[in-house]
Amino acid sequence: MLRLWLLLGLISSSLTSRGAVHEDTLHITTNVDELFLTPDSYSVLEDATGRLSIRDVRSSVWARRFVPGNQVATNIQHTAAAYWLRLTLHDAEQAERHWYLELLDSHINNILFYQDDDSFPRARTGSNLPFNSRPYFYKNFLFRLQVAPNQTHTYYLRLQSDSKTAFLARLRNETVLANHFQREYGLLGIFYGVLLIMVVYNLCIYLFIQEQMYLRYVAYVLSCSLVFLSEDGLGFQYLWPALPWLNQLINAVAPVLLLLTFSYYARQFLDSPERLPHYDAWVRRVVLGSAALLLLDALVIRSGLGFWLYPLPYTMVYYLAVRIYQRGFRPALLFLVAHSFVAISVLLLILRKLGIHTLTNTFTVYSMNVAFVLEIAVLSYALGDKIKAIKDATIRAQERLVKQLRKRQHAQSQLVDQLQQNQQLKDQLNTDLEAQVARRTEELRYQSETIAAQNRELIQANRLLALQSSAIEKLNAELQHDLQQAQEARVLSREVDFGAFSQIYPDKEACLTYLAELKWANGYRCRRCGHEKYCDGREAHSLRCTKCRYVESATAYTLFQKCKFSIVKAFYAVFLLHTHHGNYSSQELSRILDLRQGTCWSFSQKVTDAMRRREHAPDYDEQESWTSLLLDTNETGVEDSLPEQDKTHQTLSL
Ligand SMILES: [Zn+2]
Repeated sequence: MLRLWLLLGLISSSLTSRGAVHEDTLHITTNVDELFLTPDSYSVLEDATGRLSIRDVRSSVWARRFVPGNQVATNIQHTAAAYWLRLTLHDAEQAERHWYLELLDSHINNILFYQDDDSFPRARTGSNLPFNSRPYFYKNFLFRLQVAPNQTHTYYLRLQSDSKTAFLARLRNETVLANHFQREYGLLGIFYGVLLIMVVYNLCIYLFIQEQMYLRYVAYVLSCSLVFLSEDGLGFQYLWPALPWLNQLINAVAPVLLLLTFSYYARQFLDSPERLPHYDAWVRRVVLGSAALLLLDALVIRSGLGFWLYPLPYTMVYYLAVRIYQRGFRPALLFLVAHSFVAISVLLLILRKLGIHTLTNTFTVYSMNVAFVLEIAVLSYALGDKIKAIKDATIRAQERLVKQLRKRQHAQSQLVDQLQQNQQLKDQLNTDLEAQVARRTEELRYQSETIAAQNRELIQANRLLALQSSAIEKLNAELQHDLQQAQEARVLSREVDFGAFSQIYPDKEACLTYLAELKWANGYRCRRCGHEKYCDGREAHSLRCTKCRYVESATAYTLFQKCKFSIVKAFYAVFLLHTHHGNYSSQELSRILDLRQGTCWSFSQKVTDAMRRREHAPDYDEQESWTSLLLDTNETGVEDSLPEQDKTHQTLSL
């Protein structure tokens, strides 16, 4: 493959340098204004010690040691050595033309330029000297070749460099030089203009939306610009012309910075810490490790092999993008496309650094600029695309949120409506209840008033009733009294017949009760021993002394002692005899009482005797009741007259 490229390069270079026939002399034909200095058009002498002077080099000893350029490496192999380039030129043009030799690499540290037999250099320049030491204020090294028509001139260049810079040179005459300057500076102006616009634009975006990815992108573009400014020499020409020592430093540091900012930006762009955390951690380690080794090599070790460390981290980042694209992250494709441009141009740069110049021409030298512009543009677009995707996602999320909020708001308003309805219902209910309560209260008040009124009426009625009842009671009592009085009066008025009398003393029991009450009205006292304690006797209404056991019947010591007929009839007989003052015939009495006349006669004798004794008593009252006769009897003769009484009884029975 490499050989194929070499072959193609040879063909292309042989095409561009028409008329280069002699191996050591460059014959410039007419009508040629510009030509690329191919390796077969110059010779090279490596001065390992770096001590040879122009005089030594011209001497036949050293002159023979010059080797044609196409037989040796076309770049500086040993940084300690000095390299002499010899160019023999023959211009076929008759008219005098001014030719200019341009060294395309601006990193050569020290350059001396001699023509023909000069013992002192016509120009002393290099990147180790301030910019204003240059014969022409141009980013590359430019030397004026004095070429007389149809004459052969020899030019010597002594080159010494810390980096393995290539012997790339170009010849132009004055007719095309101005055009070339204009075109080259114009294109570079456009290139840096694009970068500047990208920086300012993305910086503004960052300031507006505060998305950190833009800042990383700006850092990447800036370090990218620094690499180019260092590479093409414009940085030295315009930014640090008085500080040549910065050239080497920036040349060493800028690519490391580019690697760091690029991976820093790419990892965030691809979201690799989230999408592929494990692999991302490895990418990070490799990038940091490579950067450290590169800095160490560029500033301390200076092995010149540092660039071999670049492919690994870049390839890992590229593979990261591929993996993430496979996982469905669409902007990663744009990233890969953009990266591809740079990858190709970086490959070209690596080839150039290695001294392989088969593909080196104006286009390939600036291919990297084009690639980077393309990359930066595509990345900017990808960045915008990604931010747009993020924004779209955000907008979608917001729309969903708004939808949810609307839904919630709707639900809330429904709830509020429901609550209002409930409130209304409640109010209505309250009003109804209040009205009902008021009505009920009014009813209750009315009822209680009615009840109170009724109560008052009842109390009044009660009072009236009480009055009436007491009146009735009084009336009753009066009536009772009147009745008794009337009956007693009737009895006393002697108008009482036996039927009416029987109502007062209806039977034996009533008569005995009356008699016992009358007899013991003032308390009991035994007639035999005078004892006052008693108990009931066997006979009704008889009392027995608890001491001597003497039994006294109700009729004993009364008019009715030993009476052989009904005590009721006897009571009536006493009543009739008392009422008629003893003037009542026994015949009449016998008829009324339905008793034998003899019985009636003997009993009436007994009563009239008692009446007579009563009339002679000291406490006698003419108006006294007939009952006062009942206990008046001949006490002394009771026991003694018992047989007599029995005899009487016997007679009465007869
Ligand atoms: Zn007694």
